[in-house]
Amino acid sequence: MSQQGYVATPPYSQAQPGMGGYPAGFGSSPAQPLYGHYGGQPQSFPAPPTGLMKPVSSPSGMPPSEVSSQYGSNIQQNGAHPQRYPAPPAAAAASPYGQPPNSTYHTMAPQAPAQQLTNQMGSMNLGYGPGPMQNPQAPPTSPPAQQPFQTAPPPTMGQSTLGPPPAGPHSPQMAPPQSPLAGPSMGGHPSMGGHPPMGGMGRPFPGPPPPGSGGFQQPGPGAAGQPGYPQQPQGQFGGQMAGPFQGGAAHMSGPPQKKLDPDSIPSTTQVTEDDQAKRGGQVYTTNLRGQVPPLVTTDFTVQDQGNASPRFMRCTTYSFPCTADLAKQCQVPLGAIIKPFATVPKNETPLYVVNHGETGPIRCNRCKAYMCPYMQFIDGGRRYQCGFCNCVNEVPTFYFQHLDHMGRRVDLYERPELSLGSYEFEATLDYCKSRPAFSASIRGEPSQTVTAETKQRPVLCPSSTFLTNGGQSDVTVLTAPRSKQANNKPASPPAYIFMIDVSYANIKSGLVRLVCEELKTLLDNLPREDGAESSTVKVGFVTYNKILHFYNVKSALAQPQMMVVSDTAEMFVPLLDGFLVNFQESRAVINNLLDQIPDMFADTNESETVFAPVIQAGVEALKTAECSGKLFIFHSSIPTAEAPGKLKNRDDKKLINTEKEKTLFQPQKGVYEQLSKDCVSQGCSVDLFLFPSQYVDLATMGDVPTHTGGSIFKYSNFQVEMDGEHFLSDLRKDVEKAIGFDAIMRVRTSTGFRATNFFGAIHMNNTTDVEMAAVDCDKAVTVEFKHDDKLSEETGALMQCALLYTTVSGQRRLRIHNLSLNCSAQLSELYKSCETDALINFFAKSAYRAMLNQPLKTVREILVNQTAHMLACYRKNCSSPSAASQLILPDAMKVFPVYLNSLMKTGPLVGSAELSTDDRAHQRLIATAMGVEDTQLLLYPRLIPLHNMDVASDVVPAPVRCSEERLTDAGMFLLENGRSLFLWLGQACPPELVQRVFNVPSFTHLPADLSSLPVLDNPQSKKLRSIIDSLLDQRPSAMKLLIVKQKDRSEMLFRQHLVEDKGPHGGASYMDFLCYVHCEIRQVLT
Ligand SMILES: [Zn+2]
Repeated sequence: MSQQGYVATPPYSQAQPGMGGYPAGFGSSPAQPLYGHYGGQPQSFPAPPTGLMKPVSSPSGMPPSEVSSQYGSNIQQNGAHPQRYPAPPAAAAASPYGQPPNSTYHTMAPQAPAQQLTNQMGSMNLGYGPGPMQNPQAPPTSPPAQQPFQTAPPPTMGQSTLGPPPAGPHSPQMAPPQSPLAGPSMGGHPSMGGHPPMGGMGRPFPGPPPPGSGGFQQPGPGAAGQPGYPQQPQGQFGGQMAGPFQGGAAHMSGPPQKKLDPDSIPSTTQVTEDDQAKRGGQVYTTNLRGQVPPLVTTDFTVQDQGNASPRFMRCTTYSFPCTADLAKQCQVPLGAIIKPFATVPKNETPLYVVNHGETGPIRCNRCKAYMCPYMQFIDGGRRYQCGFCNCVNEVPTFYFQHLDHMGRRVDLYERPELSLGSYEFEATLDYCKSRPAFSASIRGEPSQTVTAETKQRPVLCPSSTFLTNGGQSDVTVLTAPRSKQANNKPASPPAYIFMIDVSYANIKSGLVRLVCEELKTLLDNLPREDGAESSTVKVGFVTYNKILHFYNVKSALAQPQMMVVSDTAEMFVPLLDGFLVNFQESRAVINNLLDQIPDMFADTNESETVFAPVIQAGVEALKTAECSGKLFIFHSSIPTAEAPGKLKNRDDKKLINTEKEKTLFQPQKGVYEQLSKDCVSQGCSVDLFLFPSQYVDLATMGDVPTHTGGSIFKYSNFQVEMDGEHFLSDLRKDVEKAIGFDAIMRVRTSTGFRATNFFGAIHMNNTTDVEMAAVDCDKAVTVEFKHDDKLSEETGALMQCALLYTTVSGQRRLRIHNLSLNCSAQLSELYKSCETDALINFFAKSAYRAMLNQPLKTVREILVNQTAHMLACYRKNCSSPSAASQLILPDAMKVFPVYLNSLMKTGPLVGSAELSTDDRAHQRLIATAMGVEDTQLLLYPRLIPLHNMDVASDVVPAPVRCSEERLTDAGMFLLENGRSLFLWLGQACPPELVQRVFNVPSFTHLPADLSSLPVLDNPQSKKLRSIIDSLLDQRPSAMKLLIVKQKDRSEMLFRQHLVEDKGPHGGASYMDFLCYVHCEIRQVLT
């Protein structure tokens, strides 16, 4: 979220000064090269230089760490390391982080995929290239297997080549050639100008409508027009969609068009399968700079040998261009997606915790980077040169170690911070004053004052710099007014406060009783430190409607006590002692309370609620207790009661596809903005469980959660029987998950580039410090980098993410993730090292942010234009000459178009009045904090055929492409995208299978509202349920199973996720989109 919620972003059309500036008319002149992303922050750094934490001298001691590693409780004791981390071979070991790219990953864009694509393309008889029969305008040519590739460049770059785009089932809608430069079957597309085939994106086109909308429908069972398939409303997008193609209808309607084989365009499932086949089951060692990791969908094991695991950090490319000019030319965003608390599988080593005692972590005097493998020891080990700013620092006496004949410290493999990409430091007490230290970092951090020129020269920093910090004494700053723990107090264990809306709706639905029952057992599973017997997280309880009720659940009480606060304008916490307690100690009183709550409000007829005062109450309680924590709010309706943060219904479908549509997603400012700041300042994260039966202004209600590292769960028209288990699964995962509190993250970089933009459930007070009231194992921050100087191929690009946080037991820790990338003056290196899944994460987050300030139409145009520029630049600079009619894609990006098209069809960006505004706002907000695996799955769901599964094996059937064409009437398919889970049944599904899975004789006997599978004792039922269980287990949120019968009305929900098809709410099919992108690329190239 960064500052966007608080600071108006510059409009797109406004030229950005400084590096990476936007050309004028961002969006209005699509052919202009664009650089960067939406809503970029001002490029200059007006704020004073900042840093993360800065230790001052003479801290008092810290308690010994609870070490989970064989390093022992402090670093002097460890010694078993060489076995675990054997030195890499001499060549690599000599300077594993400073070498030019090893050839290892040159082989990662091998010939095999290209050949595979060749084979795929071979079947592309029609529409691709001047095929013998399919295209009447082209002469016959050689056999299909050769033709798209015969002029293609050698596959040294591993690229995908597509012939002229297809004139397949869609050709009747494609316009005839209107440009002499246009290829035979693509000719119509230039007429689309800068307008992709999206609802709302095309300008009105004259001409008769196409023959129904049938021409656009995907072939296969259940095509539109059949019973049960609502026709696309022309008013929404049909006309606009059809527009660009209309001219072609007559022209192309002559000869019958043979159906195009959809296997011929790049396939995500194929790419996923290939990577799994090639890299699955292997150990991925992180000892090479710029190494591209396996895909997120691939099962692999990580061995940390100096770079952070891809579970923690992934990049859009692992080879940065050397200059800003090159970056601007290719328009590939330079980004990292950082998931600092990513779950580490059991077979991988958890992070080591390093304790340097009172001294605290060793940091570069100038840039404050933490000790890491990129520091080079010199002068016999007495000094080290910082890999980030080149400053030469003295090695503290206690840390001194001799160097071996290679110039490496002899204890290299005994110290995590010298040999690993990720590790933690025990923070000294200086780091515990989180806010004051944070203030200090803003004022005292000198790194940003160092100019690029001076940074490039090795400079000896006198140690006095450390103390005086450029004239600003830390001590002075530490007593700044923001101080909340100014007395060097250690942090306290966090608290979880459960805040239950007990208004009529939640009582009537049975939700209140459900929550209270669940908490009795759930609170035994509060997160705890590894190895700890019990959790130290405290708990507290509030109920509310128009007023708030606090409960004293002190263990000494026989009965819980309620205290009412009815003045919601001046929220305060009426009790200090007994509100936040240890669950184990107060179990009897708490259970008593949880038993009583549903009955106490059973007869309520209060339907109005407050909301902002509830959050305020939670923050105040944590403030009083001097701890961080999380609020779990279970809320039903739009807060209309007279109180701060009162909201009104501002949903207006008439705004859709207008300039004002963005206002639907902009949160109401004022109270909620201030609340977010209060929450972040206190380390108070807010998780919101919503149970609405109508519009609740989710854009506003979700604002605080999405600035505080929180989550938003939504259960519309909640019914305990139908949705109870789904909700409880979410709640359990949410309460139990690994999490850190009161976090501040800083991303440092080596000379020549820096982090300029941040996306996530975060808050930013300045341009560099990412504040998160909490950060859990599923939350990711996407960071964009820009050049501020040249990068060197020799030294590469280094980044260090340092996250200061409070553990669930109240310890202050620093978690460090380091990653080294290559730099190259050759764009081909960049394209070869791209990661599509990370790229689409970046595009999704930037587009979802941009839609707050720009019309959706503009946002979609920018997405397409940037994509076209990325691909055109590749074509122009990295591929061998070939016919303009061929679509040539870099191998690492060959499925990027299908993801991008899917992104543009997501609820937030599609602009359809059929979708609920709250649902769109919800999806926008949750995607903001998603990691790479989540966006990958969201934008390309898994469609798993089940009718032919081998019940004897444990293997899950391979997913097929997300298109209706892959469904069969006699089939049964599971579809999941991490948010939704469908079981689709074809009309001709074999009765035996239906019987075995559902225990009814046939398809027609299936009840319409079925939402769960019976537990049956046969192999089919068992296997299917085990597949579903394992999927649910892997995903961050629970998914409710929806059983969909072919041609039922509910099938619309399912069809939205068939992302290769035309979207039911607007948006082009993959095939059409690829044609369109090809056309845009050609425009760029001419
Ligand atoms: Zn430095």
